[in-house]
Amino acid sequence: MDLCNPRTVKNLMETFGLRFRKEFGQNFLTDPNVIDEIAEAAYPTEDCTILEIGPGIGTLTRELCARYRRVTALEIDRGLLPVLSYTLNDFHNVQVVNEDVMKTDLAALLAPAFAEGGVSVCANLPYYITTPILMKLLECGLPFRHITIMIQSEVADRLTAGAGTAAYGAITAVLNYYGTAERLFTVTADRFLPPPKVNSAVVRITLHREKPYRPKDEAVFFRTVRAAFEQRRKTLPNALAAGFSDLTKEQCTAAVTALGLAPDVRGERLDTATFALLSDRLAEELSKIEKD
Ligand code: SAM
Repeated sequence: MDLCNPRTVKNLMETFGLRFRKEFGQNFLTDPNVIDEIAEAAYPTEDCTILEIGPGIGTLTRELCARYRRVTALEIDRGLLPVLSYTLNDFHNVQVVNEDVMKTDLAALLAPAFAEGGVSVCANLPYYITTPILMKLLECGLPFRHITIMIQSEVADRLTAGAGTAAYGAITAVLNYYGTAERLFTVTADRFLPPPKVNSAVVRITLHREKPYRPKDEAVFFRTVRAAFEQRRKTLPNALAAGFSDLTKEQCTAAVTALGLAPDVRGERLDTATFALLSDRLAEELSKIEKD
């Protein structure tokens, strides 16, 4: 069964009475080399479980099943389940779950897999919901080894941007808190059926086993990053004062300059380590207010 042949894909969809559902971001990969490379990048050893989000008609899933011990695939579109039973029929190491990844209790679903060994995520993500899915995977606290995802090329640029560049944003600083992202390769729109409007890229995130940054208060750290980028054009003290209504502009300026930063610096120049230090200063100021 050649699921990379566009005619086979169209025939399958017709046979099962299905259409490509735009609202679920259904752009299916049709390049065998790309599928091979994503599957290969997912994990350094084969003895592990892969969580796939959005198996579609099973093109990447088949390659993952052939390589790894077990695959758990979460698919929102109930209509695709009969297709998946057909295309994955010759594999006995796959579990397809008909759920929305945003509503799934990942810890419960993957508990047996974590008990057995390493777990990684591998997915050609639906573009309408890339960032919420990525944030859920990072924030859920599960010790995934890698998260290897196909995403819009522009989002890949943001995830891998350096501090001070135009593409650097809150998501970059937050992502670097959880792990390190590397852009592996670009995939042009003509490698999908139907082709999306933009090119894509594969990014692999390697989660930190031990977090290198340890802000005293994680919630204040995330608040600091969010505030710094919400008012991107403002100087950092002004942006912080807008985001922390309980602090004065003077307190925010003092927190910034105490780190040796100029008072007119913008948030986009700060790397994750500096955001962590800054959030410690702000947390101190906030705790003084609580004590008063
Ligand atoms: N993995 C297939 C491939 O590479 O050809 C399909 C990828 S397609 C870009 C995205 C897939 O994610 C679709 O099958 C879509 O139905 C599924 N999907 C969309 N939103 C989802 C969600 N919230 N939870 C789980 N699956 C979702």
